[in-house]
Amino acid sequence: MHRVLPRAGPERCFCGLRRWFGQPPRAILKMRSASTATARRMENSEVDQRRSGAEGAIAALRAAGLAKTYHGGAGEVVVFAGIGIEVQAGERVALTGESGVGKSTLLHLLGLLDEPTAGRVYYGDTEVTRLDALRRAEVRNREVGFVWQLNTLLPEFTALENVAMPLRIRGVGRRAAEQAAAERLKEVGLSARMRHRAGELSGGEQQRVALARALVGDPRLLLADEPTGSLDGKTAGMVMDLLEEVHARRELATLYVTHNSGFASRAHRVLELEAGGLASKKWGLGLR
Ligand code: ADP
Ligand code: MG
Repeated sequence: MHRVLPRAGPERCFCGLRRWFGQPPRAILKMRSASTATARRMENSEVDQRRSGAEGAIAALRAAGLAKTYHGGAGEVVVFAGIGIEVQAGERVALTGESGVGKSTLLHLLGLLDEPTAGRVYYGDTEVTRLDALRRAEVRNREVGFVWQLNTLLPEFTALENVAMPLRIRGVGRRAAEQAAAERLKEVGLSARMRHRAGELSGGEQQRVALARALVGDPRLLLADEPTGSLDGKTAGMVMDLLEEVHARRELATLYVTHNSGFASRAHRVLELEAGGLASKKWGLGLR
Protein backbone atom coordinates (compact mmCIF):
# COMPACT_ATOMS: atom_id res chain seq x y z
CA MET A 1 0.00 0.00 0.00
CA HIS A 2 1.32 3.45 -0.86
CA ARG A 3 1.66 5.84 2.06
CA VAL A 4 2.65 9.46 1.74
CA LEU A 5 5.64 10.41 3.82
CA PRO A 6 7.22 13.85 4.14
CA ARG A 7 9.67 14.47 1.37
CA ALA A 8 13.02 16.16 1.56
CA GLY A 9 12.31 19.81 0.72
CA PRO A 10 15.39 21.79 -0.30
CA GLU A 11 16.68 19.15 -2.70
CA ARG A 12 13.59 19.53 -4.81
CA CYS A 13 13.78 23.34 -4.80
CA PHE A 14 17.29 23.53 -6.17
CA CYS A 15 16.90 20.84 -8.78
CA GLY A 16 19.36 18.57 -7.07
CA LEU A 17 21.94 21.28 -6.39
CA ARG A 18 22.01 20.54 -2.69
CA ARG A 19 22.15 16.86 -3.45
CA TRP A 20 25.13 17.51 -5.67
CA PHE A 21 27.22 19.29 -3.12
CA GLY A 22 25.20 19.84 0.02
CA GLN A 23 25.78 23.59 -0.28
CA PRO A 24 23.44 26.57 -0.52
CA PRO A 25 23.45 28.04 -4.04
CA ARG A 26 25.52 31.20 -3.34
CA ALA A 27 28.21 29.02 -1.83
CA ILE A 28 28.07 26.76 -4.88
CA LEU A 29 28.83 29.67 -7.15
CA LYS A 30 31.76 30.73 -5.02
CA MET A 31 33.36 27.33 -4.75
CA ARG A 32 35.44 25.99 -7.58
CA SER A 33 33.69 22.72 -6.84
CA ALA A 34 33.84 19.82 -9.25
CA SER A 35 37.22 21.41 -9.82
CA THR A 36 39.17 21.47 -13.03
CA ALA A 37 40.97 18.35 -11.85
CA THR A 38 37.65 16.59 -11.41
CA ALA A 39 36.49 17.81 -14.79
CA ARG A 40 39.69 16.47 -16.36
CA ARG A 41 39.19 13.15 -14.65
CA MET A 42 35.79 13.04 -16.27
CA GLU A 43 37.26 13.80 -19.71
CA ASN A 44 39.17 10.56 -19.32
CA SER A 45 36.35 8.62 -17.80
CA GLU A 46 34.73 5.64 -19.37
CA VAL A 47 31.56 7.67 -19.76
CA ASP A 48 33.16 10.22 -22.06
CA GLN A 49 35.13 7.57 -23.90
CA ARG A 50 31.81 5.89 -24.67
CA ARG A 51 30.65 9.10 -26.26
CA SER A 52 33.50 9.35 -28.68
CA GLY A 53 33.49 5.66 -29.53
CA ALA A 54 31.13 3.89 -31.88
CA GLU A 55 27.72 4.03 -30.24
CA GLY A 56 26.49 0.85 -31.92
CA ALA A 57 23.07 -0.25 -30.79
CA ILE A 58 23.68 0.41 -27.12
CA ALA A 59 20.86 2.45 -25.63
CA ALA A 60 21.76 5.90 -24.32
CA LEU A 61 19.77 5.05 -21.18
CA ARG A 62 19.01 1.60 -19.92
CA ALA A 63 17.79 0.21 -16.62
CA ALA A 64 17.17 -3.36 -15.54
CA GLY A 65 15.44 -4.79 -12.50
CA LEU A 66 14.88 -1.38 -10.92
CA ALA A 67 13.10 -1.41 -7.58
CA LYS A 68 12.40 1.28 -5.03
CA THR A 69 11.14 0.92 -1.50
CA TYR A 70 11.05 3.96 0.77
CA HIS A 71 11.67 3.30 4.45
CA GLY A 72 10.23 6.00 6.67
CA GLY A 73 8.90 6.54 10.15
CA ALA A 74 5.39 5.75 8.93
CA GLY A 75 6.52 2.43 7.45
CA GLU A 76 7.61 0.97 4.17
CA VAL A 77 6.44 2.19 0.77
CA VAL A 78 7.10 -0.29 -2.01
CA VAL A 79 6.83 1.89 -5.11
CA PHE A 80 7.82 -0.61 -7.80
CA ALA A 81 10.08 -3.57 -8.54
CA GLY A 82 11.57 -5.20 -11.60
CA ILE A 83 11.33 -2.18 -13.90
CA GLY A 84 13.27 -2.32 -17.17
CA ILE A 85 13.55 0.53 -19.65
CA GLU A 86 15.65 1.55 -22.64
CA VAL A 87 15.79 4.90 -24.41
CA GLN A 88 17.87 5.27 -27.57
CA ALA A 89 19.80 8.37 -28.57
CA GLY A 90 17.45 10.51 -30.65
CA GLU A 91 14.37 8.94 -29.11
CA ARG A 92 11.63 10.87 -27.31
CA VAL A 93 9.68 8.69 -24.90
CA ALA A 94 6.63 9.76 -22.93
CA LEU A 95 5.95 8.27 -19.51
CA THR A 96 2.38 8.29 -18.28
CA GLY A 97 0.60 6.73 -15.32
CA GLU A 98 -1.69 7.53 -12.45
CA SER A 99 -0.62 9.92 -9.75
CA GLY A 100 1.40 8.15 -7.06
CA VAL A 101 2.39 5.20 -9.23
CA GLY A 102 6.08 6.16 -9.12
CA LYS A 103 6.86 8.19 -12.27
CA SER A 104 8.89 10.83 -10.42
CA THR A 105 10.63 8.14 -8.39
CA LEU A 106 11.62 6.39 -11.62
CA LEU A 107 12.98 9.63 -13.10
CA HIS A 108 14.96 10.28 -9.92
CA LEU A 109 16.53 6.81 -10.13
CA LEU A 110 17.28 7.13 -13.85
CA GLY A 111 18.76 10.61 -13.29
CA LEU A 112 20.90 9.47 -10.35
CA LEU A 113 19.14 11.76 -7.90
CA ASP A 114 18.24 8.75 -5.78
CA GLU A 115 19.52 5.22 -5.37
CA PRO A 116 17.43 2.17 -6.25
CA THR A 117 16.72 -0.52 -3.69
CA ALA A 118 17.68 -3.00 -6.42
CA GLY A 119 18.59 -2.92 -10.08
CA ARG A 120 21.01 -1.16 -12.37
CA VAL A 121 21.10 1.95 -14.51
CA TYR A 122 23.40 2.24 -17.52
CA TYR A 123 24.32 5.33 -19.53
CA GLY A 124 25.59 3.76 -22.72
CA ASP A 125 27.57 0.76 -21.55
CA THR A 126 28.57 2.32 -18.24
CA GLU A 127 26.76 1.09 -15.18
CA VAL A 128 26.27 4.37 -13.36
CA THR A 129 24.56 2.88 -10.31
CA ARG A 130 27.91 1.28 -9.43
CA LEU A 131 29.74 4.59 -9.14
CA ASP A 132 30.43 6.23 -5.79
CA ALA A 133 28.46 9.31 -4.77
CA LEU A 134 31.00 11.85 -6.07
CA ARG A 135 31.30 10.16 -9.46
CA ARG A 136 27.53 9.91 -9.69
CA ALA A 137 27.26 13.65 -9.08
CA GLU A 138 29.86 14.31 -11.76
CA VAL A 139 28.16 12.01 -14.26
CA ARG A 140 24.78 13.57 -13.47
CA ASN A 141 26.19 17.05 -14.07
CA ARG A 142 27.69 16.02 -17.41
CA GLU A 143 25.16 13.59 -18.77
CA VAL A 144 21.69 14.57 -17.55
CA GLY A 145 19.51 17.60 -18.05
CA PHE A 146 16.44 17.84 -15.81
CA VAL A 147 13.25 19.85 -16.17
CA TRP A 148 10.77 19.70 -13.32
CA GLN A 149 7.19 20.88 -13.06
CA LEU A 150 7.85 24.37 -11.69
CA ASN A 151 9.75 26.46 -9.16
CA THR A 152 13.14 24.86 -9.51
CA LEU A 153 14.93 28.02 -10.61
CA LEU A 154 16.72 30.09 -8.00
CA PRO A 155 14.43 33.14 -7.83
CA GLU A 156 17.03 35.64 -6.66
CA PHE A 157 19.38 34.75 -9.53
CA THR A 158 19.00 36.05 -13.08
CA ALA A 159 17.90 33.77 -15.89
CA LEU A 160 21.49 33.88 -17.17
CA GLU A 161 22.94 32.88 -13.78
CA ASN A 162 20.42 30.06 -13.42
CA VAL A 163 21.27 28.63 -16.82
CA ALA A 164 25.02 29.01 -16.23
CA MET A 165 24.79 27.19 -12.89
CA PRO A 166 25.46 23.59 -14.06
CA LEU A 167 28.61 24.78 -15.86
CA ARG A 168 29.78 26.86 -12.87
CA ILE A 169 29.36 23.76 -10.69
CA ARG A 170 31.42 21.85 -13.23
CA GLY A 171 34.22 24.37 -12.75
CA VAL A 172 33.74 26.41 -15.93
CA GLY A 173 34.69 30.09 -15.52
CA ARG A 174 31.95 32.72 -15.25
CA ARG A 175 32.49 34.29 -18.65
CA ALA A 176 32.48 31.02 -20.62
CA ALA A 177 29.56 29.65 -18.60
CA GLU A 178 27.49 32.78 -19.15
CA GLN A 179 28.33 32.82 -22.85
CA ALA A 180 27.04 29.24 -23.19
CA ALA A 181 24.02 30.15 -21.08
CA ALA A 182 23.23 33.13 -23.32
CA GLU A 183 23.29 30.86 -26.37
CA ARG A 184 20.87 28.42 -24.77
CA LEU A 185 18.57 31.26 -23.70
CA LYS A 186 18.59 32.51 -27.28
CA GLU A 187 17.64 29.01 -28.42
CA VAL A 188 14.55 29.06 -26.21
CA GLY A 189 13.68 32.61 -27.33
CA LEU A 190 14.56 34.39 -24.09
CA SER A 191 17.50 36.59 -25.02
CA ALA A 192 15.49 39.64 -23.96
CA ARG A 193 14.95 38.24 -20.45
CA MET A 194 18.51 37.16 -19.65
CA ARG A 195 19.13 39.75 -16.94
CA HIS A 196 15.74 39.33 -15.29
CA ARG A 197 15.59 37.54 -11.99
CA ALA A 198 13.92 34.16 -12.34
CA GLY A 199 11.29 35.19 -9.79
CA GLU A 200 10.17 37.99 -12.14
CA LEU A 201 9.41 35.64 -15.04
CA SER A 202 6.09 34.08 -16.00
CA GLY A 203 5.53 30.34 -15.54
CA GLY A 204 6.08 29.64 -19.24
CA GLU A 205 9.25 31.75 -19.31
CA GLN A 206 10.55 29.96 -16.22
CA GLN A 207 10.06 26.60 -17.92
CA ARG A 208 11.94 27.84 -20.97
CA VAL A 209 14.79 28.95 -18.69
CA ALA A 210 14.66 25.52 -17.02
CA LEU A 211 14.93 23.89 -20.44
CA ALA A 212 17.92 26.10 -21.32
CA ARG A 213 19.54 25.14 -18.01
CA ALA A 214 18.92 21.45 -18.71
CA LEU A 215 20.70 21.77 -22.07
CA VAL A 216 23.61 24.04 -21.19
CA GLY A 217 25.91 21.21 -20.17
CA ASP A 218 25.34 19.32 -23.45
CA PRO A 219 23.81 16.26 -21.77
CA ARG A 220 23.02 12.98 -23.46
CA LEU A 221 19.79 12.51 -21.47
CA LEU A 222 16.90 14.90 -21.00
CA LEU A 223 14.53 13.94 -18.18
CA ALA A 224 11.41 16.06 -17.76
CA ASP A 225 8.88 15.48 -14.99
CA GLU A 226 5.53 17.00 -15.99
CA PRO A 227 7.29 19.99 -17.57
CA THR A 228 3.98 21.50 -18.68
CA GLY A 229 1.93 20.37 -15.67
CA SER A 230 1.56 23.84 -14.13
CA LEU A 231 1.00 25.81 -17.34
CA ASP A 232 -2.15 26.90 -19.14
CA GLY A 233 -2.99 25.04 -22.36
CA LYS A 234 -1.46 27.50 -24.81
CA THR A 235 1.76 27.99 -22.85
CA ALA A 236 2.03 24.24 -22.25
CA GLY A 237 1.80 23.68 -26.00
CA MET A 238 4.58 26.20 -26.62
CA VAL A 239 6.87 24.55 -24.06
CA MET A 240 6.12 21.14 -25.58
CA ASP A 241 6.94 22.45 -29.08
CA LEU A 242 10.19 23.82 -27.72
CA LEU A 243 11.08 20.55 -26.03
CA GLU A 244 10.60 18.76 -29.34
CA GLU A 245 12.67 21.34 -31.21
CA VAL A 246 15.65 21.21 -28.86
CA HIS A 247 15.46 17.41 -28.84
CA ALA A 248 15.46 17.26 -32.64
CA ARG A 249 18.59 19.44 -32.86
CA ARG A 250 20.54 16.97 -30.70
CA GLU A 251 21.00 13.23 -30.37
CA LEU A 252 19.28 13.38 -27.01
CA ALA A 253 17.53 10.53 -25.30
CA THR A 254 14.47 12.26 -23.88
CA LEU A 255 12.03 10.85 -21.33
CA TYR A 256 9.17 13.09 -20.25
CA VAL A 257 6.32 12.51 -17.84
CA THR A 258 2.97 13.87 -18.86
CA HIS A 259 -0.70 13.48 -17.95
CA ASN A 260 -1.71 15.06 -21.25
CA SER A 261 -2.57 12.31 -23.74
CA GLY A 262 -2.10 14.71 -26.67
CA PHE A 263 1.45 15.50 -25.55
CA ALA A 264 2.16 11.82 -24.89
CA SER A 265 1.04 10.80 -28.37
CA ARG A 266 3.60 13.19 -29.88
CA ALA A 267 6.42 10.99 -28.51
CA HIS A 268 8.16 8.27 -30.50
CA ARG A 269 7.06 5.80 -27.86
CA VAL A 270 4.67 5.93 -24.91
CA LEU A 271 5.19 3.94 -21.74
CA GLU A 272 2.65 3.65 -18.97
CA LEU A 273 3.77 2.94 -15.44
CA GLU A 274 1.25 0.72 -13.72
CA ALA A 275 1.20 -1.26 -10.51
CA GLY A 276 2.42 -4.30 -12.46
CA GLY A 277 5.32 -2.49 -14.19
CA LEU A 278 5.93 -0.55 -17.41
CA ALA A 279 3.59 -1.19 -20.32
CA SER A 280 4.18 -0.01 -23.89
CA LYS A 281 1.30 1.88 -25.45
CA LYS A 282 0.51 1.66 -29.14
CA TRP A 283 -0.02 5.36 -29.78
CA GLY A 284 3.54 6.69 -30.15
CA LEU A 285 4.83 8.03 -33.49
CA GLY A 286 7.67 5.52 -33.84
CA LEU A 287 11.29 6.59 -34.09
CA ARG A 288 11.67 6.39 -37.88
P1 ADP B 1 4.13 9.93 -9.26
O1 ADP B 1 5.24 10.80 -9.74
O2 ADP B 1 3.79 8.83 -10.22
O3 ADP B 1 2.91 10.71 -8.88
P2 ADP B 1 5.90 9.44 -7.02
O4 ADP B 1 7.09 8.82 -7.63
O5 ADP B 1 5.99 10.86 -6.63
O6 ADP B 1 4.62 9.19 -7.94
O7 ADP B 1 5.51 8.61 -5.72
C1 ADP B 1 5.32 7.21 -5.75
C2 ADP B 1 4.97 6.73 -4.36
O8 ADP B 1 6.12 6.84 -3.53
C3 ADP B 1 3.87 7.52 -3.71
O9 ADP B 1 3.06 6.64 -2.97
C4 ADP B 1 4.61 8.47 -2.81
O10 ADP B 1 3.86 8.80 -1.69
C5 ADP B 1 5.82 7.64 -2.41
N1 ADP B 1 6.99 8.47 -2.13
C6 ADP B 1 7.59 9.33 -2.98
N2 ADP B 1 8.66 9.91 -2.39
C7 ADP B 1 8.75 9.37 -1.15
C8 ADP B 1 9.63 9.54 -0.03
N3 ADP B 1 10.68 10.36 -0.09
N4 ADP B 1 9.39 8.81 1.07
C9 ADP B 1 8.36 7.96 1.13
N5 ADP B 1 7.48 7.75 0.14
C10 ADP B 1 7.67 8.45 -0.99
MG1 MG C 1 5.36 12.86 -10.01
